[in-house]
Amino acid sequence: MSPEATDEDVAHVVERVESVGGEAFVSKGVVRTIIGLVGDIESFHGLNLRTLKGVADVHRISDPYKLVSRQHHPERSTVWVGGRDGAPRVPIGPETFTFMAGPCAVETPEQTLESARMAQSAGATILRGGAYKPRTSPYAFQGLGVKGLEILADVRAATGMPVVTEIVDARDVDVVAEHADMLQVGTRNMANFGLLQAVGDAGKPVLLKRGMTATIEEWLMAAEYIAQRGNLDVVLCERGIRTFEPSTRNTLDISAVPVVQATSHLPVIVDPSHAAGRKDLIVPLSRAAIAVGADGIIVDVHPDPETALCDGPQALLGTELRELAQACRKLPALVDRVPSHERATTA
Ligand code: PEP
Ligand code: MN
Repeated sequence: MSPEATDEDVAHVVERVESVGGEAFVSKGVVRTIIGLVGDIESFHGLNLRTLKGVADVHRISDPYKLVSRQHHPERSTVWVGGRDGAPRVPIGPETFTFMAGPCAVETPEQTLESARMAQSAGATILRGGAYKPRTSPYAFQGLGVKGLEILADVRAATGMPVVTEIVDARDVDVVAEHADMLQVGTRNMANFGLLQAVGDAGKPVLLKRGMTATIEEWLMAAEYIAQRGNLDVVLCERGIRTFEPSTRNTLDISAVPVVQATSHLPVIVDPSHAAGRKDLIVPLSRAAIAVGADGIIVDVHPDPETALCDGPQALLGTELRELAQACRKLPALVDRVPSHERATTA
């Protein structure tokens, strides 16, 4: 209860809790009163406790996750990515805005380098690119595998951009960790618990995408699997969820960003490309992500989307990429953030 809460306010809360069959234990402190609730959590949800007079805050103390929770770690965390092969260490956290971009898939050395240059000249500081592609169809391009990882490492050396790339099989952890700066777990593997434990053991930062049908709590539980292996360098990525709406590939759950930030200390970024699946929506959704307080965005770019082997329709180039670059330059300052390159440190 807030320090101003009256005895009547307290009594009213107790009465509401008891009205749904719960028990309320009141402990009066010198400064404030805490009311402990025991009973069925679902029935308490219907009470809208936060709206009752005198209530300052409502905490579910039975959070199923611990290591990733702000209850155990109130300060929001910064995760540092990079610092090898001449690439800087780039922060992802509450004070900065980190723009990551690159091709959906690594196709050739030229296409990857050209995509990285496009990304870099638009202001991106971390390069994305899939060497292992988790495709819905087994007949679709599956990625170049180790060859793709080698291309990414070469492009890092050429551009100075740290690399994030997806891992789809726990057996590849060593080879991916050997080449990449950050390991990505995709939406289709968010609940692959063996893979989560394996990346938790790999000693590299992890980019954990939200499962397309996962609740925020399930997503944080997945992060907890990684944290439990001693790796707290986890960045969460909202990439859209499945809804009834067919005009976008998935529905970007923009409210997930502040919801996660209120409950977890981990950084959270947004992937408008895989959420929308349409390039015309990337700039507006990126602006929304910056405005809502995301710690970064990750976007698909490709020098020739028409020939892209994967996700061409959502890849940016030309005017739209320039618009995105401008948004990433101007908007973060309005929400008190500096572009990540200003805080990056040389290795
Ligand atoms: C990707 O980023 O390349 C990707 C496959 O994304 P998602 O897992 O969000 O579909
Ligand atoms: Mn893709």
